[in-house]
Amino acid sequence: MSKASNLPIMNPQKFIQFLKAENILRFYFVFDQQNNTVRSSHKILQPLADFIHSDTRDFNQHEGLFFQVTRKYDILQGVFIHRTNRGQAAGGVRYWMYDTVEEYLRDGMRLAAGMTMKNALAGLWWGGGKGVMAHNPLLDKNNPIIRANIYQEFGELVSSLRGCYVTAEDVGTDVTDMAKIFMRTRFTTCIPLRLGGSGNPAVPTARGVISGMETALEFLGMGNLKGKTVAVQGIGHVATPLIQYLFEKEVKKVIACDINPHVVKEVREQLNERNFEAFIVRPGDMSITQAECDIFSPCATGAILNPETIPNIKARIVCGSANNQLQDSIRDDRALYERGIVYVPDFLTNRMGSVNSSNEQYGYVQNDPLIEMHLNKDWEYSIYRIAQKVLNESKSTNTPPGKVALAIAEKLSYENHPIFGHRGRLIIDSLVSSKWYELSLVDWRLSI
Ligand code: NAD
Repeated sequence: MSKASNLPIMNPQKFIQFLKAENILRFYFVFDQQNNTVRSSHKILQPLADFIHSDTRDFNQHEGLFFQVTRKYDILQGVFIHRTNRGQAAGGVRYWMYDTVEEYLRDGMRLAAGMTMKNALAGLWWGGGKGVMAHNPLLDKNNPIIRANIYQEFGELVSSLRGCYVTAEDVGTDVTDMAKIFMRTRFTTCIPLRLGGSGNPAVPTARGVISGMETALEFLGMGNLKGKTVAVQGIGHVATPLIQYLFEKEVKKVIACDINPHVVKEVREQLNERNFEAFIVRPGDMSITQAECDIFSPCATGAILNPETIPNIKARIVCGSANNQLQDSIRDDRALYERGIVYVPDFLTNRMGSVNSSNEQYGYVQNDPLIEMHLNKDWEYSIYRIAQKVLNESKSTNTPPGKVALAIAEKLSYENHPIFGHRGRLIIDSLVSSKWYELSLVDWRLSI
């Protein structure tokens, strides 16, 4: 077998050595709609383009995937652009460990398509995209100098893409990293407040989850949050304000758990006057999913709604901030529906993380009315109105709510931006025609 056909199963570090041996420091894969094919910037990488095109699970006509190898530390950095009809592809940058090129590419494509759906369903004039950096295990990723370099180089990659992608914070990335990205590009959000950004989105995200819970209760004819019992998995940045809001809404009781004993101790001390029960769990302990409660709120990690947990859930409603709560988006959506549990799709309720930074390029306004409207009952794209629409349609068509929400989002995602049209596609075409990938080793070393 030739080396090129082995590319998907290569580990990212080996792949980087392969690229450098071929004098490739930047490369891309773009979707050619007319010929229904994915084209590579380099002939030798075409097997990888064909592999992407044949991936029926995660490839969904992504408009363009752009990559670079960093100058200093042999890190593979990529920008995955899914769909830009509604505007610039927006989505955070993830810094994660991957065993193979295939895993890396699939994760990037899946996350980018997810952002298209989240942004469209929120009525934002953004497309969907994602940045993904494959960690080099030989590096100390907690070293601030190394981190600064990695994120600045990512900022250069984003700048080079001429605005078809706007980056943000994501798993493995914090606001300090965002400040480093901001040193090299104007196409970023989530920069710290002191630099004019929108700061930490956890509080608005918690408010969005409350809105989702209230809509589901109303849908079931169960009134409001007053007197209800809520079980929360994870007591992190989102869940901490969420629990406070729940008590402000006069819930009867909150049960919560975390794997970190310090956060459990801290929150117990803060809420000792309340009817609050918090316990420490080992990673993998899913006992909270079986708690006697009205609402179960996953606010920790993904894939926790699966064939092991779903049969034991006691709650009537599942509504939380965690991303990708369903282990299998079709199977588990249906399983919850068949048990009569109302699942408020995660990408609908946790949208405020994206929404909070969505106006950053137009300046920052405290209590921004354009953000607040996502939390009211009047605006047609507010969490309340969309959740209502999804749950009603789910009931009337006998279709699980995740599927309904995706269908609405998919349709919205093809609407063109009212001023700029499908400009992202034009930018990608111009990157291709101007040979964006042409960066020799000499240019690369000089371009610091
Ligand atoms: P966080 O890291 O601050 O909090 C997560 C908490 O969950 C941590 O305290 C962690 O110890 C705990 N945890 C991890 N695994 C656990 C387990 N198995 N059982 C119990 N506790 C566990 O994260 P966050 O910012 O609060 O976000 C929570 C979730 O919401 C994440 O999935 C995140 O991707 C998603 N989300 C967050 C935002 C935001 O604004 N922060 C926006 C959208 C989505």
